[in-house]
Amino acid sequence: MQPTGAIQDFLHDLEARVAGDLRTDPYTRVLYSTDASIYQVIPYGVLIPKTVEDVHAAVELAARYRLPILPRTAGSSLAGQAVNEALVIDLSRHLDRILEVNVEEHWVRVQPGVVLDELNLHLRPLGLQFGPDPASSNRAAMGGIVSNNSTGAHSILYGMTADHVLEMKVILSDGSTATFGPLEEDEAARREQRPGLEGAIYRRIREITRTHADTIRA
Ligand SMILES: Cc1cc2nc3c(=O)[nH]c(=O)nc-3n(C[C@H](O)[C@H](O)[C@H](O)COP(=O)(O)OP(=O)(O)OC[C@H]3O[C@@H](n4cnc5c(N)ncnc54)[C@H](O)[C@@H]3O)c2cc1C
Repeated sequence: MQPTGAIQDFLHDLEARVAGDLRTDPYTRVLYSTDASIYQVIPYGVLIPKTVEDVHAAVELAARYRLPILPRTAGSSLAGQAVNEALVIDLSRHLDRILEVNVEEHWVRVQPGVVLDELNLHLRPLGLQFGPDPASSNRAAMGGIVSNNSTGAHSILYGMTADHVLEMKVILSDGSTATFGPLEEDEAARREQRPGLEGAIYRRIREITRTHADTIRA
């Protein structure tokens, strides 16, 4: 049950690079081995990052060691998405800030650990609300809501979460950072020229949209 070999080296290197908590004790690993599904899978360990730099370090090292990571917020997923043989990264503890609210343009910028009910409590006095309303909104947080493309009883009125995501700042699997959102054609063409994984993603997406344009429009 104890991690061995490359996993042990990975966890050792990670511990030296993060400000947050890296937990590998059996109690924590069992605690994070379940979500709201029927599955139980024990993770290698659990990182509770204090900063975005901690998440960067985890992704970068995982890429170097070719080991899987699994981000997690409330762990209320129903199909096992929040459990795996991986380093679980619990973003709910410290990365839970509402960073900016733009009342005029009706958007907010949040970290992944913001719980949906808390976001809506914050927005209510401003006459705003995040539309999609999963029944688990008193614990589900934005990282999981976006990744699961959650919705709820009012989906006919408010749509799915994907209908409301304007832009995302992400850490790619090689540890680099990118911001994705809608683009005009000429800007998309410029971004194709970018080096590394980000440029490769734009090239691939534009190739898919060109090759399958008729199917996508149909
Ligand atoms: C009682 C109950 C009722 C529910 N009702 C609904 C409902 O009405 N509608 C609905 O859609 N779902 C519902 N769910 C399922 C679940 O609660 C939702 O999908 C919820 O939005 C998941 O949020 P979470 O914070 O628990 O995500 P988690 O379970 O922690 O994670 C979900 C997925 O997101 C990924 N993830 C999390 N953060 C990040 C990140 N920062 N970057 C990349 N990936 C990330 C995880 O790896 C995982 O794959 C319900 C669940 C329960 C138990």
